Parts: sequence; structure tokens; C-alpha cells
Amino acid sequence: MREPPPLRHAYVTLVTNNDYAMGAKALATSLRRTGTSADIVVLHTAGADQGHLSPLLQFGCRLVQVDHLPLSAEFNERHARSNLHASAPFTKGRKPAFHSPLDNFCKLRLWELTEYSSCVFIDADAIVLRNIDKLFLYPEFSAAPNVYETLADFHRMNSGVFVARPSGDMFGRMLERLDQPDMFWKRTDQTFLQAFFPDWHGLPVYFNMLQYVWFTMPKLWDWRSISVLHYQYEKPWETNHPKAEKLRPLIDLWHAFYAGDDLPDISAMANPEEAA
Ligand code: UDP
Ligand code: MN
Repeated sequence: MREPPPLRHAYVTLVTNNDYAMGAKALATSLRRTGTSADIVVLHTAGADQGHLSPLLQFGCRLVQVDHLPLSAEFNERHARSNLHASAPFTKGRKPAFHSPLDNFCKLRLWELTEYSSCVFIDADAIVLRNIDKLFLYPEFSAAPNVYETLADFHRMNSGVFVARPSGDMFGRMLERLDQPDMFWKRTDQTFLQAFFPDWHGLPVYFNMLQYVWFTMPKLWDWRSISVLHYQYEKPWETNHPKAEKLRPLIDLWHAFYAGDDLPDISAMANPEEAA
């Protein structure tokens, strides 16, 4: 009898421009530090140039070039940055100028990576602080709640970290559901994935800790528990960062990963109320 093929696991992120390539570099550094033996796949479009992508090779990343999804012109128009910001304004934080909402949908290309049995997607604006390989054994579709302001946030999921099983068949079904006449996905892939997987499995918030929790719900912050730190809204590498002073220790930590500097003992870092 032939041995079954080994299970293949990959962390997957997405990069559609040079800014998010910077994010992916910090993410890849952080993942390597966890000692994982899973692949790291960077899905990238032609929007990121080689000069920004090639540093990722030193972390053993697999660069996989993808196209935007084959969506109708009307769909693309509805989700273009200016139109989306006009019909569904962001009131809680500011999206950087280099963020293009339409690009988010390229995340769905993960389901085409059928050489892997299980994938963990992580946004390029996140860093992994401890080994999370056990997530590969979690069911599709697992994700953490979108908690950054109030308890009501627990009703919604955040698509910055999720567990999925690649499948061409599933990818096809997703595309069909995505681009229906007049369909508007207010928060792009995130709104879509929550609708597509209404019974999503909830991960603890610490698998996708959103940076605003640092100042909105300081009691929830616990450096010993956080596995993934996610810089939603403003990015730590932005030059005009309106919340930089408020988020200083988190931004400094991101820069230490990005630069490959010595890292502090993260579990021993001061929680917000101690740091204040
Ligand atoms: N992304 C990208 N280019 C874009 C927008 C998004 O590469 O123009 C990718 C990138 O991996 C990013 C993720 O999609 O981390 C989601 O966007 P973002 O993290 O900026 O959204 P937020 O977490 O602030 O809601
Ligand atoms: Mn993000």
C-alpha cells in the first residue's frame, strides 16, 4: 500500500503593493521566530515590485503571483476606494491612502492553493508572537471576533486571521456568491466571509488582538496571552500616524520585528494600565 501524501500546511498572506510588502516582512520574521516548519506563502499581485518582494525570500517565503479576481466592472466600481468610503464611511479609525478595498478580495485566492491541506491566513499588518501551528488542525472556517471597541463587537468576525481548507470547488462557489447584481460588501472580504460562513468557529480574541484594544479595553490586554497582534486601521510604518503616541509600545515592537532587532521578552512587557 502506498503511504498517503504528507499533510501540507501554509501560513498565507496577501501583498498588493510595496507598503504591504513591508508588513509581510515583519510578519514573516515573526513567523520564523515561532519555529514553525509550515510554508509561508505570500500571494502578491503585480502591484508590488521585485525590490520589495525579494527580501521575503530570505525568510523562505514562497512568492505566488495572482491576478485580481474575475469580477464584473460594476462590482469593481461599487467597491472602488472612493465609492466604498462614500457609501460606508470609516468612523472609528483611518485607513491609509495605500489601502485599496478591492484588493482585499484577492484573499479568496487562498482557496486555490490546493497543494495544501490546511492554511492559516494572516493579514500583512499583523505579527505572530507565539507558535500557532495548532490552528492548522482547527476546522474551516475559524476566525476571531472583530473586537476593538465594545462587547457588541463579539458578534462580528475579523478576517485578518482565519483557518481554511483550499478547494477549487469551494473557490468557484465563493466567486458565484460574491458577484451578484447590486451586491455591496461593506467591509469587503470580511463581510463576505462572515455571510458565506455564518456558523464560523470562534477563536479566542488573542489569536487576532486588534491594536485599538490597547486603549479602548485595556483590561483585555495581556501580553502573555496574545498570539497574533493585528494593526488594524493605521499601520505602524505610516509616516503620518495620527495615533502613534497612543500606540507607541506596539509600534516600537513592530519596528523591532521589521528591522530584525533584538526583541524584548514579550510576555514580560507592561500591559496598558502598567505602561500608562
Ligand atoms: N491588502 C493589500 N493591499 C491593499 C489592501 C489590503 O495587500 O491595498 C491586504 C494586506 O494583506 C492587508 C489585508 O489585505 O493586511 C487587509 O487590509 P488591511 O489590513 O489594511 O485592513 P484592516 O486590517 O485595517 O481592516
Ligand atoms: Mn489588517
